[in-house]
Amino acid sequence: MKFVVLNTFVVAITLLCSTTLPAQNMAVINANIATMDRENPKAECLVVKNGRITAVGSKDEISKLIEADMQVLDLDGKFLMPGFIEGHGHFLMLGEMRMNLDLTKAKSWDEIVEQVRVAAATTPPGKWIIGRGWHQSKWDSAPSPNVEGYPTHEALSEASPNNPVLLTHASGHMDFANAYAMRIAQIEDDTKDPEGGTILRTEDGSATGVFRERASGLIHSARYKDEGQSKTIVSSVNYLNRAAELASEECVRKGITSFQDAGMPFAQIDYLKSVVDGRVKPRLWVMVRDSNQSLMQHLKKTRMIGYANDHLTVRAIKRAIDGALGPHGAWLLQPYDDMPLSRGLNTRSIESVEEAASLAIKHDYQFCVHAIGDRANREVLDIFERQFKANPSEKSRRWRIEHAQHLHPDDIPRFGQLGVIAAMQAVHCTSDAVFVPKRLGMRRSKEGAYVWKSLLNSGAIVTNGTDAPVEDVDPIPCFFASVTRQLKPGVTFFPEQCMSRQEGLESYTINNAKAAFEEDIKGSIEVGKLADFVVLSNDLLTCDDDEILKTKVLRTVIGGETVYEMKSE
Ligand SMILES: [Zn+2]
Repeated sequence: MKFVVLNTFVVAITLLCSTTLPAQNMAVINANIATMDRENPKAECLVVKNGRITAVGSKDEISKLIEADMQVLDLDGKFLMPGFIEGHGHFLMLGEMRMNLDLTKAKSWDEIVEQVRVAAATTPPGKWIIGRGWHQSKWDSAPSPNVEGYPTHEALSEASPNNPVLLTHASGHMDFANAYAMRIAQIEDDTKDPEGGTILRTEDGSATGVFRERASGLIHSARYKDEGQSKTIVSSVNYLNRAAELASEECVRKGITSFQDAGMPFAQIDYLKSVVDGRVKPRLWVMVRDSNQSLMQHLKKTRMIGYANDHLTVRAIKRAIDGALGPHGAWLLQPYDDMPLSRGLNTRSIESVEEAASLAIKHDYQFCVHAIGDRANREVLDIFERQFKANPSEKSRRWRIEHAQHLHPDDIPRFGQLGVIAAMQAVHCTSDAVFVPKRLGMRRSKEGAYVWKSLLNSGAIVTNGTDAPVEDVDPIPCFFASVTRQLKPGVTFFPEQCMSRQEGLESYTINNAKAAFEEDIKGSIEVGKLADFVVLSNDLLTCDDDEILKTKVLRTVIGGETVYEMKSE
C-alpha cells in the first residue's frame, strides 16, 4: 500500500510544478484544417493557450488574436487534423514487443527457429527467450511435421536446449513453447486442458508446443514464477520504464496523441500513475483487466478521470469471452468451414462476465468485452441488454464490444438500438482477409465479417485502432484499410463495406473520443478542447487512394507542445 501512496504523492508534486510552468501558447496559420467538427468542417488557423484551443477560423478572424509571446507556426497549406486516438491497443506490450524477438516478418517456421537459434547463442542459459508475432497463415508453406497446420516443438527445442522459449501468436491468443519451457510448466502427457483452452497434441498424445487461448496461462504463469515475479506485482520498474518509453516514442512518431489501452491489472495502473506526467507523452485511457475479486476490492478507489492534466483516465473494465479467428478460437454459432468439428472457444463463462458487468454498473465503469465470433457477439449483446433492462439509465452507458469482427446479420442493428459501441480495428480486416473465407466460408464472410459500414448505417458508433502490438500501431495503414479494404493492388475484401474518407477519419478521432466519454476534450479541432493535433504530408480527405500509404506524419502536438517533428530529409 505504501508504494501506491508514495506514487500519488510524487505525481501530486509534479502536477503542482507543471501548473506553474510557462503555458503552451501557439498560433497555427495557413493550414488546411479538417476539424472533424461537422458544424464547422474546414478552417485555416487556430490559436492555443495553456494547452487548449481558444480559437478556430479563417486568417482574418485569427490574425487579431495572435499575441506577442506566441509561437507562430505557418504551415503553408499543409493538412492538419485532430491527433489520432488509438482505440484499442496494448501500450506496454507495444514497448515490450520492441524489446523482444519480432516474428511478424517471418515467412516460415524455419525462419523463426533460426531467429531463436541466433538469440539463444547470446542469451545466458536458463534465461527466457520471448518473441511475438508469428502467424501460420502468413507463412509461404506449412511446417513439416505439423498438427492442424501448426509446427511441433522439436526443431525449436533443438535450437534452444538451454533456454525456455515463449513465442506468442500475432493475435495474442496462442503461444508456442519449447521443451525447456514445457518442463518448467510441468506439462505432461496427462496434463488436462484448462477450461477455455487447449494444449494441442500429436496423435500419440504428446504436447506439440502449441497452447491455445487459456492454456497459454500455463506457460505464462510458469515464466512469471521462474523469473520470480508475479503478474500482479510490478517487480521490475526499469523494465516497465523502458517499455513505456519505447511505446510512447513510437506513438508520437506515428501521430497518436491518445491511446486507449485494452486491459491492464491494477498493479500496472498504479505504475502508470508515476510515468504519465513526463515519461509517457500520449494521453492514456486504460481499461482494468483483473479478477472479479480484485475488481470488487479496487474499482472504487481506482476510478479516475483526467488524472495528471488529462493524461490518465480509468473508468472501464475489460473482459474477453472468446478468442481470435486466426487460431480458431473465435466462438461461432456454426462450425468452422475448415475445422468442422469446432465452433471455437468460450474463454470465460457467461456467469463470470455477467458478474463483472454488474460490478461495472455498481461502480459506474464502462464495460468492454472482447468478442470476435458471431456467437460471442450475440452472447455479449444479450448480457448488455439484460443489464441495461435491469438497471435503466437515461444516459447511454456506452458499453463496448471490442473487435465485433464477425456478426450474425440479425445482430448488426442491435448495436445502434442498444447504444453499444463497435470498437473495431480496420487493419485486422485486410490482414486477416487471406484466411477469413477459409474459416467462415463466403456467405458468412460477406454478411458479417468486419461490416463497419452496415454498423454505421444502422446507427452504431464505430471506432478504430490497431490492437497493437497485434498490428503495427501506425494509423495510416489502418485508415487505408477502412476506406479501401484493399489487401494488395486489385484485391479487396467486400468493398461495399468501405467507410468514406470522412467516416474513416471520424472513426479514428471523434468516435474514439465518444467511446471513452471524452468528446468534450478530444477528437476534433474546436474551441475549448485540448490542443492535440497532427500535421500530415497529404490531405487524407482528398488524396488518391494510392497516396494514402505514402502519407508522412510531419508534426505531432499534444497539449500545445510539439512532441514529434519529422526531420527534413
Ligand atoms: Zn486487444
